[in-house]
Amino acid sequence: MIRNKYTGEDVIFSCEVFPPKRDDDIYEIFQTLDAIEDLKPDYISVTYGAGGSNSKKTAKIASYIQNVCDVEALAHMTAVGMTRENLAERLGELQKKAVKRILALRGDKPRTMTEEEFEGREFRYASELIREIRDFGDFHIAAACYPEKHPESPDVETDLRYLKEKCDLGVEELITQMFFDNEKFYRFREKLDQIGIRASLHAGIMPITKVNQLGTSVSLSGSSVPTALSNLIAKYAEDPAGMRQAGIEYAIRQVEDLMKHGVTGIHIYSMNKADVTREIYSEIAG
Ligand code: FAD
Repeated sequence: MIRNKYTGEDVIFSCEVFPPKRDDDIYEIFQTLDAIEDLKPDYISVTYGAGGSNSKKTAKIASYIQNVCDVEALAHMTAVGMTRENLAERLGELQKKAVKRILALRGDKPRTMTEEEFEGREFRYASELIREIRDFGDFHIAAACYPEKHPESPDVETDLRYLKEKCDLGVEELITQMFFDNEKFYRFREKLDQIGIRASLHAGIMPITKVNQLGTSVSLSGSSVPTALSNLIAKYAEDPAGMRQAGIEYAIRQVEDLMKHGVTGIHIYSMNKADVTREIYSEIAG
């Protein structure tokens, strides 16, 4: 927990890492985790490769977080690429490793999967996976949410209806898609309140430390980019060190503003960069 220096309340602080593509690079992520561990985050989440690729690495890294770093691990898991049979196997494996938290997601179609395979998946939505995990028992379940709506959703109200369905199945925690405009988050939070969603809400903050980051993960997320941020990117197009610093400062300003507005959870999309996470943490921890 960190202390909100504006309200005096506790704020859940967490971050996300992803498994490296090459098996040989797994030790690099362990080093990153060693460097994050002493910030004592409330949990560290580990992503799951599209369609279940890398799932063994997710479990291995989650186990390292839980058992070596002694920090709560949150293992991501997707419906895409999952069958009932291998779900039971994956859950059993996580149980054995004492990993108790799961972020249950639908996932997206990986490039290597045909449309037919994607459409024929056993669990259609995150909610179906959540139901199955809940019935298996003994897991703390988290889910994703989208302050600017999920890109495939026709409108915010429809998206929220399905989000409520996930929460009613027993989701205890919601982690937002990255957003760069806090006003969007505040409006979303109000709507959750109005429809009776009480799960703990964690604001997903992505520090933009490289000019090309917007072209990849951000454009896929459907999150809007305010002029202030696109101006920074234009300004530092030829200055990587300047971009890094400006991106960290943007993220810090975002978090400070969220804290002033009484946010109770901050989740940093760390992109496996311990130094960036540490710089943000040291500014925001009260
Ligand atoms: P769902 O909640 O199933 O929603 C998907 C869409 O279907 C939405 O438009 C929703 O409105 C609609 N919908 C939901 N239920 C129904 C229903 N019953 N009937 C009709 N429509 C419905 N992807 C990965 O592959 N690996 C990861 O590790 C990963 N981590 C993520 C972490 C976070 C915090 C976030 C925000 C996203 C992450 N993603 C990850 C991406 C995620 O898999 C995609 O955004 C995916 O497109 C949607 O997943 P979801 O769990 O939100 O889906």
